Amino acid sequence: MNINFYFTLFSNCIPVKGAVRSIICDLQRGSYLFISNDIFDVLTSCQTMPIFKILDYYRNINEVELEILFNQLIEHNLGHYCENPDRFPKINTQFNSPYEILDCIIELSDCNLKYIDNIFESLTILGCQTIEFRTYSHFSIEKMEIFLSKLHLTRIRNVELIVCHSELESLNAFEAILKKYPIIETLVIHSADIDSCKTIGASNLIFTTQKITSSSCCGNISKEDFKINLPFYLHGLKNNTCLYRKISIKANGDITNCPSLEKTFGSVINLSLEQALNTIGFKELWSIKKDDINICKVCEFRYICSDCRAFLNDVYEKPFKCSYDPYSPSFHNLS
Ligand code: SF4
Repeated sequence: MNINFYFTLFSNCIPVKGAVRSIICDLQRGSYLFISNDIFDVLTSCQTMPIFKILDYYRNINEVELEILFNQLIEHNLGHYCENPDRFPKINTQFNSPYEILDCIIELSDCNLKYIDNIFESLTILGCQTIEFRTYSHFSIEKMEIFLSKLHLTRIRNVELIVCHSELESLNAFEAILKKYPIIETLVIHSADIDSCKTIGASNLIFTTQKITSSSCCGNISKEDFKINLPFYLHGLKNNTCLYRKISIKANGDITNCPSLEKTFGSVINLSLEQALNTIGFKELWSIKKDDINICKVCEFRYICSDCRAFLNDVYEKPFKCSYDPYSPSFHNLS
């Protein structure tokens, strides 16, 4: 090891410090590696100090230990030695999107079916590209197809369909839907008899025994749902990852930030989504980022966690449905 060199993490590998441990998020490979908070401090200093200065400053770590650490990070493709760290600029952390709405959730219902042309027209104006359709009880495939058949008129590029298992619909019918509408990335069939997963073309067909009987079943935070990618990280630095630029339409047509939130901003029956978006209060929760939320602000997962602003007493509180305690640090069973 040449101690006149620097050791720097690649710009897509972001160290995040928690209360008692840290992680390095590899935003390109979608993974993370645990490190101690002491190593976090060393790596942060490494961005500006050559190795000999690090050794001088951190007297509790010797040259051999430091070389072992750097070699481990190189093995994980997280960093490299360099002569001049200025040649490896950091990622620009500005999050820019020309779209007024990024995500939409629609609860499938006869009411929303009646207003679907208006809804899709608004979503096109607002630039929305991602949509999630949900049902909590049986909703016929024929009616679902009316929603799906109009998607080509919009700017929607990613679709997730979450539907209730029903004896009335055959597996073949769902597979046919995925073949006919490859825009559907994932079809989740909840309340199923078994847990299973298969792919149909480029789409995922997931059966889960979990029962999603209402919007109150949402909001669970688990490590399986962490999103480790650059857009999500940038988004989480400045905005709320649960609600920012999201709009939802409940089964009765009510327009909300999220189906699990009670506050409504009008109805698709008599209001456009653009009008609802400009109603006072609609964007109020958009700017509550993880660094503002009690407990979450010291959680090492804060920039990869989806968050939930629906099930809480206070908007600056950790989600009820998160079982992680960054101080232990471990996931607990929720009672
Ligand atoms: S404590 Fe907060 S940031 Fe950490 S996993 Fe739970 S909800 Fe996410």
